[in-house]
Amino acid sequence: MSKKRDLNIETIAIHAGMAHDSNSRAISPPLEASTNFEHDKKGFQEGDYIYTRNSNPNRDQLERVLASLEKGETCAAFSSGIAAMNSVFMSVEKGAHILIPEDLYHGSRSLLEKYSERWSIEYSTVDMTNLDQFEAAFNSNTTLVVLETPSNPLLLITDLKKAIGISKSKAAVVCVDNTFATPFNTNPIEFGADLVMHSTSKFLGGHSDILGGAIIAAKEDEFFQKIRTIQKSQGAVPSPRDCWLLSRSIRSFPYRMRAHNENAQKVAEFLETQQKVKKVNYPGLKSNSGYEIAVSQMRGFGGMISFLIDGDYTDTLSIVARAKIIRRATSLGGIESLWEHRRSTEGELSKTPGNLIRFSVGLEHIDDLISDLKLALNA
Ligand SMILES: *Cc1c(COP(=O)(O)O)cnc(C)c1O
Repeated sequence: MSKKRDLNIETIAIHAGMAHDSNSRAISPPLEASTNFEHDKKGFQEGDYIYTRNSNPNRDQLERVLASLEKGETCAAFSSGIAAMNSVFMSVEKGAHILIPEDLYHGSRSLLEKYSERWSIEYSTVDMTNLDQFEAAFNSNTTLVVLETPSNPLLLITDLKKAIGISKSKAAVVCVDNTFATPFNTNPIEFGADLVMHSTSKFLGGHSDILGGAIIAAKEDEFFQKIRTIQKSQGAVPSPRDCWLLSRSIRSFPYRMRAHNENAQKVAEFLETQQKVKKVNYPGLKSNSGYEIAVSQMRGFGGMISFLIDGDYTDTLSIVARAKIIRRATSLGGIESLWEHRRSTEGELSKTPGNLIRFSVGLEHIDDLISDLKLALNA
Protein backbone atom coordinates (compact mmCIF):
# COMPACT_ATOMS: atom_id res chain seq x y z
CA MET A 1 0.00 0.00 0.00
CA SER A 2 1.29 3.45 -0.86
CA LYS A 3 3.01 5.34 1.95
CA LYS A 4 2.02 8.58 0.21
CA ARG A 5 -1.50 8.22 1.58
CA ASP A 6 -0.14 8.86 5.07
CA LEU A 7 -2.39 6.42 6.84
CA ASN A 8 -2.04 5.99 10.58
CA ILE A 9 -0.03 3.09 11.93
CA GLU A 10 -3.05 1.11 13.22
CA THR A 11 -4.51 1.13 9.69
CA ILE A 12 -1.18 0.38 8.02
CA ALA A 13 -0.64 -2.63 10.30
CA ILE A 14 -4.01 -4.10 9.30
CA HIS A 15 -4.19 -3.30 5.60
CA ALA A 16 -0.72 -2.60 4.18
CA GLY A 17 0.69 -5.15 1.80
CA MET A 18 -2.51 -7.17 1.51
CA ALA A 19 -3.08 -8.63 -1.92
CA HIS A 20 -6.82 -9.16 -2.39
CA ASP A 21 -6.52 -11.34 -5.45
CA SER A 22 -7.40 -14.73 -4.10
CA ASN A 23 -10.16 -16.54 -5.97
CA SER A 24 -11.79 -17.34 -2.67
CA ARG A 25 -12.04 -13.65 -1.65
CA ALA A 26 -10.70 -14.65 1.75
CA ILE A 27 -10.33 -11.82 4.27
CA SER A 28 -7.34 -13.41 5.95
CA PRO A 29 -4.66 -13.93 3.28
CA PRO A 30 -4.04 -17.55 2.30
CA LEU A 31 -0.93 -19.36 3.48
CA GLU A 32 0.86 -20.46 0.30
CA ALA A 33 3.22 -23.18 1.46
CA SER A 34 4.36 -24.19 -2.04
CA THR A 35 8.12 -24.18 -2.61
CA ASN A 36 7.72 -23.73 -6.37
CA PHE A 37 5.38 -22.14 -8.91
CA GLU A 38 4.30 -23.24 -12.39
CA HIS A 39 5.92 -21.46 -15.31
CA ASP A 40 3.83 -19.61 -17.84
CA LYS A 41 3.30 -21.46 -21.16
CA LYS A 42 5.65 -18.91 -22.73
CA GLY A 43 8.28 -19.84 -20.15
CA PHE A 44 9.39 -17.95 -17.04
CA GLN A 45 8.48 -14.27 -17.16
CA GLU A 46 10.27 -11.51 -15.24
CA GLY A 47 8.43 -10.87 -11.96
CA ASP A 48 6.78 -14.32 -11.80
CA TYR A 49 7.18 -16.40 -8.71
CA ILE A 50 9.52 -19.29 -9.42
CA TYR A 51 10.99 -20.69 -6.18
CA THR A 52 10.17 -19.84 -2.55
CA ARG A 53 13.73 -18.99 -1.47
CA ASN A 54 13.77 -16.18 -4.08
CA SER A 55 10.30 -14.83 -3.30
CA ASN A 56 6.81 -15.98 -2.45
CA PRO A 57 3.40 -14.38 -1.83
CA ASN A 58 3.50 -14.52 1.99
CA ARG A 59 7.01 -13.07 2.22
CA ASP A 60 6.15 -10.33 -0.28
CA GLN A 61 3.14 -9.37 1.81
CA LEU A 62 5.20 -9.30 5.01
CA GLU A 63 7.91 -7.20 3.36
CA ARG A 64 5.33 -4.69 2.10
CA VAL A 65 3.76 -4.19 5.52
CA LEU A 66 7.16 -3.87 7.25
CA ALA A 67 8.32 -1.30 4.67
CA SER A 68 5.11 0.70 5.22
CA LEU A 69 5.39 0.56 9.02
CA GLU A 70 8.92 1.98 8.84
CA LYS A 71 8.14 4.48 6.02
CA GLY A 72 10.69 2.81 3.76
CA GLU A 73 10.61 1.94 0.09
CA THR A 74 11.47 -1.73 0.41
CA CYS A 75 12.25 -4.56 2.83
CA ALA A 76 14.06 -7.89 2.94
CA ALA A 77 12.78 -10.42 5.50
CA PHE A 78 15.15 -12.92 7.13
CA SER A 79 14.90 -16.00 9.32
CA SER A 80 16.25 -14.12 12.37
CA GLY A 81 17.32 -10.67 13.45
CA ILE A 82 20.92 -11.82 13.40
CA ALA A 83 20.63 -13.06 9.80
CA ALA A 84 19.31 -9.59 8.90
CA MET A 85 22.22 -7.84 10.66
CA ASN A 86 24.67 -10.26 9.04
CA SER A 87 23.41 -9.27 5.57
CA VAL A 88 24.25 -5.62 6.33
CA PHE A 89 27.79 -6.40 7.53
CA MET A 90 28.40 -8.62 4.50
CA SER A 91 27.32 -5.82 2.16
CA VAL A 92 30.22 -3.49 3.02
CA GLU A 93 33.29 -3.53 0.80
CA LYS A 94 36.55 -5.19 1.80
CA GLY A 95 38.84 -2.80 3.66
CA ALA A 96 35.95 -0.76 5.07
CA HIS A 97 35.56 0.32 8.70
CA ILE A 98 32.28 -0.06 10.64
CA LEU A 99 31.41 2.08 13.65
CA ILE A 100 29.19 0.50 16.32
CA PRO A 101 27.98 1.60 19.76
CA GLU A 102 29.77 0.23 22.84
CA ASP A 103 26.63 -1.55 23.95
CA LEU A 104 25.41 -2.88 20.58
CA TYR A 105 23.23 -5.99 21.01
CA HIS A 106 25.81 -8.64 21.97
CA GLY A 107 24.84 -11.04 19.14
CA SER A 108 25.39 -8.35 16.49
CA ARG A 109 28.72 -7.43 18.01
CA SER A 110 29.83 -11.03 18.16
CA LEU A 111 29.29 -11.36 14.38
CA LEU A 112 32.00 -8.74 13.94
CA GLU A 113 34.21 -10.33 16.59
CA LYS A 114 33.98 -13.70 14.83
CA TYR A 115 34.01 -12.75 11.14
CA SER A 116 35.44 -9.27 10.53
CA GLU A 117 38.91 -10.65 9.86
CA ARG A 118 37.63 -13.24 7.40
CA TRP A 119 35.58 -10.50 5.67
CA SER A 120 38.62 -8.15 5.65
CA ILE A 121 36.76 -5.36 7.41
CA GLU A 122 37.53 -3.36 10.54
CA TYR A 123 35.27 -2.12 13.28
CA SER A 124 35.45 -0.06 16.42
CA THR A 125 33.12 0.78 19.27
CA VAL A 126 32.27 4.20 20.67
CA ASP A 127 29.97 5.73 23.30
CA MET A 128 27.27 7.14 21.01
CA THR A 129 25.66 9.24 23.74
CA ASN A 130 28.75 11.45 23.43
CA LEU A 131 28.59 13.05 19.96
CA ASP A 132 32.08 14.57 20.11
CA GLN A 133 33.60 11.16 20.77
CA PHE A 134 31.33 9.73 18.07
CA GLU A 135 32.52 12.21 15.44
CA ALA A 136 36.14 11.67 16.42
CA ALA A 137 35.76 7.90 15.98
CA PHE A 138 35.29 8.09 12.18
CA ASN A 139 38.14 6.94 9.97
CA SER A 140 38.65 7.79 6.31
CA ASN A 141 37.35 4.28 5.46
CA THR A 142 34.24 4.34 7.69
CA THR A 143 31.42 3.37 5.35
CA LEU A 144 28.82 1.97 7.77
CA VAL A 145 27.48 3.15 11.13
CA VAL A 146 25.13 1.05 13.26
CA LEU A 147 22.97 2.80 15.84
CA GLU A 148 20.76 1.27 18.53
CA THR A 149 18.44 3.43 20.64
CA PRO A 150 17.28 2.70 23.32
CA SER A 151 20.21 0.37 23.83
CA ASN A 152 20.31 -2.99 25.52
CA PRO A 153 20.40 -3.45 28.52
CA LEU A 154 21.08 0.12 29.74
CA LEU A 155 18.37 1.82 27.63
CA LEU A 156 20.83 4.54 26.61
CA ILE A 157 19.44 7.08 24.15
CA THR A 158 21.35 8.20 21.05
CA ASP A 159 20.34 11.45 19.35
CA LEU A 160 19.23 10.09 15.98
CA LYS A 161 19.07 13.39 14.11
CA LYS A 162 22.52 14.52 15.19
CA ALA A 163 24.25 11.13 14.96
CA ILE A 164 22.79 10.49 11.50
CA GLY A 165 23.70 14.06 10.43
CA ILE A 166 27.34 13.48 11.43
CA SER A 167 27.40 10.09 9.66
CA LYS A 168 25.95 11.57 6.45
CA SER A 169 28.55 14.36 6.47
CA LYS A 170 31.13 11.53 6.39
CA ALA A 171 29.22 9.74 3.60
CA ALA A 172 28.59 6.62 5.72
CA VAL A 173 25.54 4.37 5.35
CA VAL A 174 23.47 4.38 8.59
CA CYS A 175 21.62 1.31 9.84
CA VAL A 176 19.47 1.65 12.98
CA ASP A 177 18.53 -1.40 15.05
CA ASN A 178 14.95 -0.34 15.92
CA THR A 179 13.97 -3.53 17.77
CA PHE A 180 13.56 -1.84 21.20
CA ALA A 181 11.86 1.36 20.02
CA THR A 182 9.67 -0.33 17.37
CA PRO A 183 8.02 1.59 14.49
CA PHE A 184 5.16 2.52 16.85
CA ASN A 185 7.51 4.77 18.81
CA THR A 186 10.22 5.84 16.33
CA ASN A 187 10.78 5.76 12.56
CA PRO A 188 14.56 6.19 12.06
CA ILE A 189 14.04 6.85 8.32
CA GLU A 190 12.33 10.13 9.29
CA PHE A 191 15.64 11.16 10.87
CA GLY A 192 17.63 10.27 7.76
CA ALA A 193 18.57 6.61 8.38
CA ASP A 194 19.27 4.55 5.24
CA LEU A 195 18.41 1.19 6.78
CA VAL A 196 16.30 -0.02 9.69
CA MET A 197 16.97 -3.43 11.18
CA HIS A 198 14.49 -5.46 13.23
CA SER A 199 14.46 -8.63 15.20
CA THR A 200 10.80 -9.37 14.45
CA SER A 201 11.09 -12.10 17.11
CA LYS A 202 10.34 -9.36 19.65
CA PHE A 203 7.50 -6.77 19.71
CA LEU A 204 6.44 -7.21 16.06
CA GLY A 205 5.86 -10.95 16.52
CA GLY A 206 4.80 -10.23 20.09
CA HIS A 207 3.93 -13.73 21.30
CA SER A 208 7.35 -15.37 21.86
CA ASP A 209 6.67 -17.91 19.11
CA ILE A 210 8.27 -16.62 15.88
CA LEU A 211 11.96 -16.07 15.08
CA GLY A 212 12.54 -13.51 12.35
CA GLY A 213 14.36 -10.41 11.16
CA ALA A 214 14.13 -7.69 8.56
CA ILE A 215 16.02 -4.88 6.86
CA ILE A 216 13.92 -1.97 5.66
CA ALA A 217 15.53 0.52 3.29
CA ALA A 218 14.65 4.18 2.76
CA LYS A 219 15.57 3.73 -0.91
CA GLU A 220 15.95 0.72 -3.16
CA ASP A 221 19.58 1.70 -3.78
CA GLU A 222 22.78 -0.15 -4.62
CA PHE A 223 23.55 -1.01 -0.97
CA PHE A 224 20.10 -2.50 -0.50
CA GLN A 225 20.48 -4.51 -3.73
CA LYS A 226 23.44 -6.26 -2.09
CA ILE A 227 21.29 -7.11 0.92
CA ARG A 228 18.58 -8.47 -1.38
CA THR A 229 21.13 -10.62 -3.20
CA ILE A 230 22.41 -12.03 0.12
CA GLN A 231 18.84 -12.78 1.20
CA LYS A 232 18.11 -14.76 -1.98
CA SER A 233 21.46 -16.42 -2.54
CA GLN A 234 22.51 -17.23 1.04
CA GLY A 235 19.00 -18.35 1.90
CA ALA A 236 18.52 -17.33 5.56
CA VAL A 237 14.86 -16.70 4.72
CA PRO A 238 11.69 -17.16 6.81
CA SER A 239 9.26 -19.89 5.74
CA PRO A 240 5.92 -18.86 4.18
CA ARG A 241 4.29 -20.09 7.40
CA ASP A 242 6.46 -17.80 9.57
CA CYS A 243 5.76 -14.87 7.22
CA TRP A 244 2.04 -15.58 7.38
CA LEU A 245 2.03 -15.82 11.19
CA LEU A 246 4.18 -12.73 11.61
CA SER A 247 1.99 -10.56 9.40
CA ARG A 248 -1.05 -11.91 11.33
CA SER A 249 0.63 -10.74 14.57
CA ILE A 250 1.58 -7.37 13.11
CA ARG A 251 -2.11 -6.53 12.61
CA SER A 252 -2.51 -6.08 16.39
CA PHE A 253 1.01 -4.76 16.99
CA PRO A 254 0.10 -1.04 17.38
CA TYR A 255 -2.47 -1.80 20.09
CA ARG A 256 -0.09 -4.14 21.87
CA MET A 257 2.65 -1.54 21.70
CA ARG A 258 0.41 1.18 23.08
CA ALA A 259 -0.25 -1.03 26.11
CA HIS A 260 3.44 -2.02 26.47
CA ASN A 261 4.31 1.71 26.58
CA GLU A 262 1.59 2.42 29.12
CA ASN A 263 2.39 -0.48 31.47
CA ALA A 264 6.15 0.09 31.29
CA GLN A 265 5.78 3.78 32.17
CA LYS A 266 3.70 2.86 35.25
CA VAL A 267 6.09 0.08 36.27
CA ALA A 268 9.11 2.40 35.89
CA GLU A 269 7.43 5.08 38.01
CA PHE A 270 6.53 2.47 40.66
CA LEU A 271 10.07 1.06 40.75
CA GLU A 272 11.49 4.55 41.31
CA THR A 273 9.56 4.75 44.60
CA GLN A 274 10.97 1.46 45.94
CA GLN A 275 13.67 1.38 48.60
CA LYS A 276 15.20 -1.83 47.23
CA VAL A 277 15.71 -0.17 43.84
CA LYS A 278 18.79 1.98 43.38
CA LYS A 279 18.27 3.21 39.83
CA VAL A 280 15.70 2.75 37.07
CA ASN A 281 16.72 2.98 33.39
CA TYR A 282 13.69 3.97 31.33
CA PRO A 283 13.69 6.76 28.73
CA GLY A 284 10.20 7.91 29.82
CA LEU A 285 11.40 8.95 33.29
CA LYS A 286 12.34 12.60 33.81
CA SER A 287 15.28 11.38 35.92
CA ASN A 288 16.76 9.65 32.83
CA SER A 289 19.77 11.34 31.25
CA GLY A 290 18.34 10.70 27.77
CA TYR A 291 14.83 11.97 28.60
CA GLU A 292 14.90 15.21 26.56
CA ILE A 293 16.26 13.49 23.47
CA ALA A 294 13.83 10.61 23.91
CA VAL A 295 10.90 13.05 24.00
CA SER A 296 12.13 14.62 20.75
CA GLN A 297 12.41 11.34 18.83
CA MET A 298 10.00 8.85 20.46
CA ARG A 299 6.20 8.87 20.43
CA GLY A 300 6.21 6.46 23.38
CA PHE A 301 9.08 5.03 25.42
CA GLY A 302 8.76 1.31 24.83
CA GLY A 303 8.20 -1.81 26.88
CA MET A 304 11.76 -2.36 28.14
CA ILE A 305 13.11 -1.30 31.53
CA SER A 306 16.29 -2.16 33.37
CA PHE A 307 16.94 -1.40 37.04
CA LEU A 308 19.60 -1.78 39.67
CA ILE A 309 18.89 -3.41 43.00
CA ASP A 310 20.27 -1.93 46.20
CA GLY A 311 22.04 -5.22 46.90
CA ASP A 312 24.46 -7.72 45.40
CA TYR A 313 24.39 -10.44 42.72
CA THR A 314 22.68 -12.98 45.02
CA ASP A 315 20.04 -10.53 46.33
CA THR A 316 19.20 -9.66 42.74
CA LEU A 317 18.87 -13.30 41.67
CA SER A 318 16.56 -13.99 44.62
CA ILE A 319 14.29 -11.05 43.71
CA VAL A 320 14.03 -12.38 40.15
CA ALA A 321 13.17 -15.82 41.55
CA ARG A 322 10.37 -14.60 43.85
CA ALA A 323 7.92 -13.23 41.24
CA LYS A 324 4.84 -15.35 40.53
CA ILE A 325 3.50 -13.71 37.36
CA ILE A 326 6.66 -12.28 35.80
CA ARG A 327 8.56 -15.22 34.33
CA ARG A 328 12.33 -15.69 34.30
CA ALA A 329 13.48 -15.74 30.69
CA THR A 330 15.54 -13.92 28.14
CA SER A 331 14.13 -12.27 25.01
CA LEU A 332 11.47 -9.61 25.05
CA GLY A 333 8.46 -8.04 23.41
CA GLY A 334 5.94 -10.78 24.11
CA ILE A 335 2.50 -10.29 25.66
CA GLU A 336 3.76 -11.93 28.88
CA SER A 337 6.06 -10.12 31.32
CA LEU A 338 9.59 -11.52 31.43
CA TRP A 339 12.59 -10.51 33.43
CA GLU A 340 16.09 -11.77 33.82
CA HIS A 341 19.26 -11.35 35.79
CA ARG A 342 21.12 -10.12 32.74
CA ARG A 343 24.66 -10.76 33.96
CA SER A 344 24.07 -14.49 34.40
CA THR A 345 22.49 -14.64 30.91
CA GLU A 346 25.42 -12.85 29.26
CA GLY A 347 28.07 -14.85 31.13
CA GLU A 348 31.09 -13.87 33.21
CA LEU A 349 32.73 -11.78 30.46
CA SER A 350 29.70 -9.48 30.60
CA LYS A 351 30.16 -5.88 31.75
CA THR A 352 26.53 -5.68 32.89
CA PRO A 353 26.31 -4.94 36.65
CA GLY A 354 25.53 -7.99 38.81
CA ASN A 355 22.62 -6.12 40.43
CA LEU A 356 20.82 -5.34 37.15
CA ILE A 357 17.43 -6.78 36.20
CA ARG A 358 16.17 -6.44 32.64
CA PHE A 359 12.39 -6.35 32.43
CA SER A 360 10.20 -6.81 29.35
CA VAL A 361 6.89 -5.42 30.58
CA GLY A 362 3.96 -7.41 29.23
CA LEU A 363 0.27 -6.81 28.84
CA GLU A 364 -1.04 -8.22 32.13
CA HIS A 365 -3.20 -5.82 34.16
CA ILE A 366 -0.99 -3.16 35.73
CA ASP A 367 -2.38 -3.81 39.25
CA ASP A 368 -1.39 -7.47 39.04
CA LEU A 369 2.10 -6.54 37.84
CA ILE A 370 2.58 -4.04 40.67
CA SER A 371 1.42 -6.64 43.24
CA ASP A 372 3.89 -9.14 41.81
CA LEU A 373 6.69 -6.57 42.00
CA LYS A 374 5.82 -5.80 45.64
CA LEU A 375 5.96 -9.51 46.39
CA ALA A 376 9.36 -9.91 44.70
CA LEU A 377 10.95 -6.78 46.16
CA ASN A 378 9.71 -7.02 49.74
CA ALA A 379 10.61 -10.45 51.01
C1 LIG B 1 16.94 -10.08 19.74
C2 LIG B 1 17.68 -8.94 19.18
C3 LIG B 1 18.48 -9.10 18.03
C4 LIG B 1 18.71 -10.45 17.38
O1 LIG B 1 17.57 -10.95 16.80
P1 LIG B 1 17.23 -12.54 16.70
O2 LIG B 1 15.86 -12.55 16.11
O3 LIG B 1 17.29 -13.09 18.09
O4 LIG B 1 18.24 -13.15 15.81
C5 LIG B 1 19.12 -7.97 17.54
N1 LIG B 1 18.98 -6.76 18.12
C6 LIG B 1 18.24 -6.57 19.23
C7 LIG B 1 18.14 -5.22 19.83
C8 LIG B 1 17.56 -7.66 19.79
O5 LIG B 1 16.83 -7.46 20.90
